[in-house]
Amino acid sequence: MTRTILEQIKKTIINRLPEEVQVANVEFEGPEVVIYTKNPAVITNNGDLVRKIAKDMRKRIIIRSDKSVLLDQDKTIQKIHEIVPEDAGITNIEFDEVTCEVIIESHKPGLVIGKFGVTSREITKNTGWAPKILRTPPIKSGIIETIRNVNKNSNKERKEILQTLGARIHQGTKHDSDWARITSMGGFKEVGRSCMLLQTPNSRVMLDCGVNVAGSDNKSSFPYLNVPEFNLEDLDAVVISHAHLDHCGFVPFLYHYGYEGPIYCTTPTRDLMTLLHLDHIDIAHREDNPLPFTVKHVQKSLKHTITLDYEEVTDISPDIKLTFHNAGHIIGSAMSHMHIGDGDHNLVYTGDFKYERSRLLEPATSRFPRAETIIMESTYGGKEDVQPSRNSAEKELMKTIYKTVKRGGKVLLPVFAVGRAQELMIVLEEYMTQGLIEEVPIYIDGMIWEATAIHTARPEYLSKDLRDQIFHAGRNPFMSEPFNKVTNTNQREDIINSKGPCIILSTSGMLTGGNSLEYFKKLSDNNKNTLVFVGYQSEGSLGKRIQKGWKKIPLKEDGKTIVYYVKMEIKTISGFSGHSNRRQLMDYVRRLSVKPERIITCHGDPYKSVDLATSIHRSFKIETKTPLNLDATRIL
Ligand SMILES: [Zn+2]
Ligand SMILES: [Zn+2]
Repeated sequence: MTRTILEQIKKTIINRLPEEVQVANVEFEGPEVVIYTKNPAVITNNGDLVRKIAKDMRKRIIIRSDKSVLLDQDKTIQKIHEIVPEDAGITNIEFDEVTCEVIIESHKPGLVIGKFGVTSREITKNTGWAPKILRTPPIKSGIIETIRNVNKNSNKERKEILQTLGARIHQGTKHDSDWARITSMGGFKEVGRSCMLLQTPNSRVMLDCGVNVAGSDNKSSFPYLNVPEFNLEDLDAVVISHAHLDHCGFVPFLYHYGYEGPIYCTTPTRDLMTLLHLDHIDIAHREDNPLPFTVKHVQKSLKHTITLDYEEVTDISPDIKLTFHNAGHIIGSAMSHMHIGDGDHNLVYTGDFKYERSRLLEPATSRFPRAETIIMESTYGGKEDVQPSRNSAEKELMKTIYKTVKRGGKVLLPVFAVGRAQELMIVLEEYMTQGLIEEVPIYIDGMIWEATAIHTARPEYLSKDLRDQIFHAGRNPFMSEPFNKVTNTNQREDIINSKGPCIILSTSGMLTGGNSLEYFKKLSDNNKNTLVFVGYQSEGSLGKRIQKGWKKIPLKEDGKTIVYYVKMEIKTISGFSGHSNRRQLMDYVRRLSVKPERIITCHGDPYKSVDLATSIHRSFKIETKTPLNLDATRIL
């Protein structure tokens, strides 16, 4: 079966390309079809033709040189240095003999690519090797290094995975794609463990696979993978909207239980997801509450991850095409547009999204070619969820910091490592460098620092304003003076015992564990200090209890219960959220480029999910649904 499909594709391609291309081989590489040529010089001349064939065949086609015509590696390195301007700051050149790619890491990847790709084409023309151009992280990132190593050391295995996958995707449909349904497996009428299954007569695709970090036991922490319609062997793909654990925390478990298929996400999501998985395993281990998977399964997930850019249309199963769009929530966060069958139905899953420009990101996109069904989050979907503007939230935060610093106290900001932390860093940096608040040390605790390094390595995913600063003004605000990296317990002790005021950004965001909890324990009984909540606190979390005004906090330590007294000032500042507030959610539906037939709400407390759905129905006359976990909803 596989052979014949590939043979057919090969035949079509050979027939359409001029003879001088000298096709040596045609292979699947996941969703892509790769043509290997014995005449690399033609690659640059036939770009338009290949694009046209790709369009007609509705497949993604890449053209690379056959092994037999590749230039010797040492000579290639020499040639690359001749072709690429020195300003590019090349830091490393390596070769992937399996895919015939040369991997070039540099400080200014744009200069290796050249205007309209002219420099990188020159490299291919002269050496045969296809350049894969990566940015050298300006702040050293252990995670990016790990990922590059895993990929390097598993290139053979990865190619096999991609070939098998390619055959599966391109096998053609066996049935008409005349129905589609969604099974809610987690994150419906609740926040946490987001997970759903999209089924068509030809495909099974999982959208998100998260955990509820505030869950009290396995039953409430993990998605319902035991629904009868879910079967690991039948699963074609897993699509991850963004790196927060409530959307991707359970992915390694799938690999533990034998899943061999792909994960699709953006590059920043892959990087941050790996960071958060490893940290989650670490914390669970320290708390003596191990997760049902290990580091090995995180590595296995990595080998199966296929990264896609925004706006890139990709076949992920015989009858589903996936396109990611910016969601404005955290770096790399994506709305997934799925085109089912021959245009029979279009589904958009928003994931978490922010319909407002932030300091870090552009607002979520509301333009889709078609969208009959939209599954949207409703975290702040209640009528009362009208938050202050970002501007007034910033002012409120500065006022709080000013007051605390003045009385010699310390400000503790428990934050998710990813998203709010970097947003706050940008705000604090700006106020301090402009002299609007007094300069005090800002301590960035370990995990947040690593997440920040990943942000600096992927500036193309940041807001236009930040990109301009980094690319044109050569000024990276994340690397600014007041920031201090904290990596070990001794440093933490020193910070707590230090006399002067300071600001501490630490995880976890809901005080459910991690270093923020350790800081809290030490800082809570001093009324000079302030604890500021800037993010969502879920029911049952310690953060929520403190927010509600609990003054005595019993915590288990080494089998004993210790009571902590809350004397520090407690402050909640809303408006920094990475989620759209009620008005933005309604505006989003109003401004969609196409009017959907149906909107399904998820990712919200029951009342908020229902309230948003009711209001959308009333205002826009769109059918709405608010399923419970385990409900199945037919969408086509
Ligand atoms: Zn999120
Ligand atoms: Zn979420």
